[in-house]
Amino acid sequence: MRMVNFDRFGPEKVLEVHDGKSGMHGFVVIDNRNLGVGKGGIRMTPTVTVDEVARLARAMTWKCALAGLPFGGAKSGIVADDKKISREQKEGIVRAFSRAMKPVCPSLYVAAPDMNMAEEEMRWFAEENGSMKSCTGKPADMGGIPHELGSTGFGVYHAAVVAAEHAGLDIRKVTFAVEGFGNVGIFAAKFLSEKGAKLVGVSDSKGLLHKKDGIDFAELEKVKAEKGSVTKYGSGEVLLGKDIISLPVDVLITAAIPDLIKKEDTGKVKAGIIVEGSNIPMSAETEELLHRKGVLVVPDFVANAGGVISSYVEYIGGTKEDMFRLVEKKVRENTKEVLERAKKHGMSPRQAAMKIAQERVAKGA
Ligand code: NAD
Repeated sequence: MRMVNFDRFGPEKVLEVHDGKSGMHGFVVIDNRNLGVGKGGIRMTPTVTVDEVARLARAMTWKCALAGLPFGGAKSGIVADDKKISREQKEGIVRAFSRAMKPVCPSLYVAAPDMNMAEEEMRWFAEENGSMKSCTGKPADMGGIPHELGSTGFGVYHAAVVAAEHAGLDIRKVTFAVEGFGNVGIFAAKFLSEKGAKLVGVSDSKGLLHKKDGIDFAELEKVKAEKGSVTKYGSGEVLLGKDIISLPVDVLITAAIPDLIKKEDTGKVKAGIIVEGSNIPMSAETEELLHRKGVLVVPDFVANAGGVISSYVEYIGGTKEDMFRLVEKKVRENTKEVLERAKKHGMSPRQAAMKIAQERVAKGA
């Protein structure tokens, strides 16, 4: 028998659903609603399990609590192979899932896109549910606030500014590098460059561009759009992508792959501050080792909360201006609180962040 693990925080509800006509099979795990309605994306993969969904729902409980949002944690999964079904079949499955979610959505659960789900899928989901509050990540014509506006990268930028202040550095004088030049990396690099920080390294799947005297952001964006890779910039040196972890910079921003920095790599790291824009760029153990070496690491769920904050603004019917305002306010406040707590108690920022999230969830009960 399949069982998920329960503890004092949750999960509160595990619902498995099936529809014979479309072949839809899925589940939702509502982990904890102490702070508000359960929030979390729908993942569609052939291998998704209720256990995986439960773990992701718990991660959402901490993420929303730490972001300071009136949202609880939840997640859902649909077992289907996106590559093996037609668009019509996919629509049938998503609509059947939405109908099956009606007893809990939007009253106890608010959905969003996750793997193999995007705006159009959220359109089907919201239409079938009948309420615009049933999910976020909707198309703009339904009141959606697209991630392309850069909410996450904007938040990562603010986390970097607060971390630099905390370390006693003037952000206009720091050097920085960005791993990954996609949605998160581009906006983080843009706002930091505009603030006057010097971009000296940037990578994408093709490699790493290193230029000690600084990379011009506007030129870099143009090169990436026209030539497909940051490595085509035309000056500076091109290195292997993984060399970004040993660049001598003040701030390293991760914005691409998981497990970028492994346990055995900690000796190579020269950055004084690492801001985790990507999810799990290193294990908690590696973070702890870096912390002991004196590297200030802003954990992923603190630094990259801009996306979920943007979802909240969409949920309450706000505008893109509201979104930028709230991302700035929340990410700055939360990063500051986490770093100050960590310093005061001599713990790593991740330990401090977990403590804050747990306290908020327990207090909300
Ligand atoms: P994206 O697909 O827009 O961009 C990813 C970038 O990483 C691309 O430039 C790609 O070329 C580059 N890349 C791929 N492999 C690489 C490698 N080995 N080395 C260096 N660069 C490599 O993705 P994104 O939306 O920017 O997300 C990046 C990370 O941030 C992911 O871990 C994601 O889970 C996390 N994240 C994203 C959001 C969001 O709102 N987009 C929110 C929270 C967390």
